[in-house]
Amino acid sequence: MNVKVNDTVQVITGKYKGKQGKVLATSPKAGTVIVEGVNIRQKHEKARRANETSKIVSEEGPIDVSNVEVVCDKCGKATRVGHTVADGKKVRVCKKCGAVLDKAYVKKSKAKAAEDAKAEAPKKRTRKRSAKAAETAAPVEETVESTPAVTDGE
Ligand SMILES: [Zn+2]
Repeated sequence: MNVKVNDTVQVITGKYKGKQGKVLATSPKAGTVIVEGVNIRQKHEKARRANETSKIVSEEGPIDVSNVEVVCDKCGKATRVGHTVADGKKVRVCKKCGAVLDKAYVKKSKAKAAEDAKAEAPKKRTRKRSAKAAETAAPVEETVESTPAVTDGE
């Protein structure tokens, strides 16, 4: 399946045609996805315990994965999904503009950048600390109490 959880997808056929939503769950075995706000059905829930009440709950039902297309973050279009290899990893790309669709991949590269920043940080920190130490060491003023000696005139 080319659709993953947290993808934004657009329904391309049926009652919810044109509707966009986030993928809440996927079922690769059944070839279905559950999309936020799509295929809402009423489920009648009977109270099972003493303090529960019977109620009708609205919730999303699964729809066939072939009825949705991934919406590209970059160009905003519903698109078919292509594949390519970036940094030795297979990633999904937008067929229309070529942008990488895999959010996990995007996040990973961001995390890498954060790691690089962290690697540089300790140097700065030690520098700062030594500078501060020098500052605090210097202005230790000796407070000499100059109490006037009381001398008796007699
Ligand atoms: Zn695109």
